Amino acid sequence: MKADIFEHLAAKDHEQVTFCYDEESGLRAIVAIHNTTLGPALGGCRMWPYKSEEDALVDVLRLSRGMTFKSAAAGLNLGGGKAVIIGDPKKHRTEALFRAYGRFVEGLGGRYITAEDSGTNVRCMEWVRMETSYVTGISRALGGSGDPSPVTARGVYMGMKAAAQARWGSDSLAGKHVSVQGVGHVGFHLVKHLIEEEDAKVTVCDIDADNLKKVKEKYAVSIVDPEAIFDVKADIFAPCALGGVLNENTIPRLQVEVVAGAANNVLASEKRDGRALVERNIFYAPDYVINSGGLINVANELEGYNQERALKQAEGIYEIILRIYEIAKREDIPTHKAADNLALRRIAEIGKLRGMYSPTARSTRKPPSLYGVS
Ligand code: NAD
Repeated sequence: MKADIFEHLAAKDHEQVTFCYDEESGLRAIVAIHNTTLGPALGGCRMWPYKSEEDALVDVLRLSRGMTFKSAAAGLNLGGGKAVIIGDPKKHRTEALFRAYGRFVEGLGGRYITAEDSGTNVRCMEWVRMETSYVTGISRALGGSGDPSPVTARGVYMGMKAAAQARWGSDSLAGKHVSVQGVGHVGFHLVKHLIEEEDAKVTVCDIDADNLKKVKEKYAVSIVDPEAIFDVKADIFAPCALGGVLNENTIPRLQVEVVAGAANNVLASEKRDGRALVERNIFYAPDYVINSGGLINVANELEGYNQERALKQAEGIYEIILRIYEIAKREDIPTHKAADNLALRRIAEIGKLRGMYSPTARSTRKPPSLYGVS
């Protein structure tokens, strides 16, 4: 890398970047810790055949910073971190490699807690766990949190109700028409909440015929072609498939008043598309806040997993979306910006508290609870 690494760190205020190399297993990993003001940095480990080391570094710096905002906005006592392993998940996912990675994570002494991400899975995390306890995303059978999607979907559902409250002055979704893009793990559970708890009218699309069949067999939903989902005349659009779906081509087609779904990085360009939604008077529930149930789920694992508690905490997303709405209104800014401001303010306020002398807090340097959704 030609550029000065410290310049990369300074550009977005990263605390620490660790490069991990093990010749035997072929491990080449980078762990980035962005900010630990609120607690240990938690974030997944992505495995990808990056074209260059610089691409891997840029990605891990971007992703770890995103985790700081996500944890802070979700009200968790966690900081932001992420790891990348340079390699092809189809060829290089071995026990030795993940155990080597686990030993490096252990060496960070709890400043970073790892989890699965694209290219890694529960099996990989179980190998990591053989070397360190600073890992989440373990299977239910081994005392972990297992599939996060029911908790994510609960959070999306409650966030959608809050968005309805912000947009229409009532959080009831009864009779509202919701178009859902993608009925995979999260989308399926979301449809269940919408129909069983709200009696909403639901239109879905998916590129996977089996997933469509599964939802159609259980619920009275309408189905449209994937390309037609943006043109459905509905009240709410719930993107639950992939990122970047809202852009200069799709936003003008939307015939809804609210966007609230699980997908990450929904806006192709935050600045341009966040503004475009405001101009169309569409309320946008920021993706990283409304889908933070997945993070809340794994954070729960750190203190002994209990799904009931995780579901309850995910319901706190309702209040957070309303707070974001208030900030956006008061400061006349788009909601994605308001979410960032909420996160930054919490970090600043709680960070100041840490300057207050307390013998126990100083000796343990650990917040009272790893999660604390208000
Ligand atoms: P999933 O893979 O189980 O489901 C995604 C579904 O979208 C699949 O059924 C897939 O066939 C469908 N799909 C893909 N491309 C499509 C297209 N062009 N049009 C219509 N459908 C399409 O994934 P998931 O776990 O349900 O996650 C959904 C989204 O939510 C992802 O963006 C994910 O990153 C995000 N998310 C998930 C969680 C979680 O707990 N699973 C947590 C936070 C964020």
